[in-house]
Amino acid sequence: MQITEKQLAQVNERIKALIASGSFYGKKLEDAGISEVHSPEEFRKLPFSEKADLREAYPLGLMATDESNIVRIHSSSGTTGTPVIIPYTQKDVDDWATMFARCYEVAGITNKDRIQITPGYGLWTAGIGFQLGCEKLGAMAVPMGPGNTDKQLQMMQDLETTVLCSTSSYALLLTEEIEKRGIDRSKIKLRKGVIGSERWSAKMRERIAEGLGIELYDIYGLTEIYGPGIGINCKYNTGMHIWDDFLYLEIIDPQTGEPVPDGEQGEIVITTLCKEGAPLIRYRTHDLSRIIPGECPCGRSYPRIDVIAGRTDDMMKIKGVNVFPKQIEEVLAQFPEISSEYQIRISHLDGKDTMRIYVETNGTVNFADLAERIAEKVKSRIGFTPIVKVVEIGVLPRSMKKTARVIDERFE
Ligand code: ZN
Repeated sequence: MQITEKQLAQVNERIKALIASGSFYGKKLEDAGISEVHSPEEFRKLPFSEKADLREAYPLGLMATDESNIVRIHSSSGTTGTPVIIPYTQKDVDDWATMFARCYEVAGITNKDRIQITPGYGLWTAGIGFQLGCEKLGAMAVPMGPGNTDKQLQMMQDLETTVLCSTSSYALLLTEEIEKRGIDRSKIKLRKGVIGSERWSAKMRERIAEGLGIELYDIYGLTEIYGPGIGINCKYNTGMHIWDDFLYLEIIDPQTGEPVPDGEQGEIVITTLCKEGAPLIRYRTHDLSRIIPGECPCGRSYPRIDVIAGRTDDMMKIKGVNVFPKQIEEVLAQFPEISSEYQIRISHLDGKDTMRIYVETNGTVNFADLAERIAEKVKSRIGFTPIVKVVEIGVLPRSMKKTARVIDERFE
């Protein structure tokens, strides 16, 4: 997806503001001798911005306008050191509300809906974003925030909420609680769920959709770029539409930084086209996805990306091919005869990479035949044949915490 003339003009406006304000990225551009871009080729030469840069600008170094224009800040979680602070002007807040309201509309939600919002409110952008979009749409917000399941279920029934906004794990928990407590299903009026995009399995999605009797929508966003609400899937569920009147989207090879062809997996890079408080140029999200080529049956021309496949940190480069654990997981999910445990080992021998996949099954299955069938399916998915080893159930290591399922012996 090439950047358009109009988008280029918007980028130039942002560059001008960044430099004029003496902001962190403005100085970076000045140092690189850049004051304008004239073509898609020049745009692609602009330096990336990284989360580490944003941290360096702490606390307010990203501000690209006079402080009198700033109406609030948000902050991304600082689990790994200094947090990132993003300043917003009133226009930024309004634009975010417009994008978010559009998300609700695309999901078929109207001003007649009652929206139960369970993500957290505060410094981060989740709850407040869901609220902003809801009010812009004219629907009724039920601003619960996270936790307190008793009260969530009470309000869900008494207020007859029709839309649930939550993470996938909390939606699953509510599904299970409703069943556990034997709550009369006729008292639950939910019809849709808007789920903050994270990696979640098809099995989990099905469980929630069936358990609550709702349609599910994946919403995308990150604090550095407004927050949630910059894209959502439509009812055809063919990927998330991204609002390219506010953002320019690129998919790059995370290792070379070069753009990948549409349809190929890579890292999402976003440029904000209208943002005033803290514009970002070519921001590396470290989220992995791909552009979905072609037209959506809904007729909207907004580009689409696939559900987030993981983070660049999860990516493995094997035999020159980018492989993601999720791809292997999806193939393995097609084999009911194996357990949910698996292990991937990558090693380098005699100048060649090899990938071995260990899976578990019980004694009623022909191990050799199963290994061959799995290897074939994996090959058709990733392009080369792995060595598949089938072992008895219980042989692979298990742990209470996150089990290490990928072991790359090439770097040991
Ligand atoms: Zn669509």
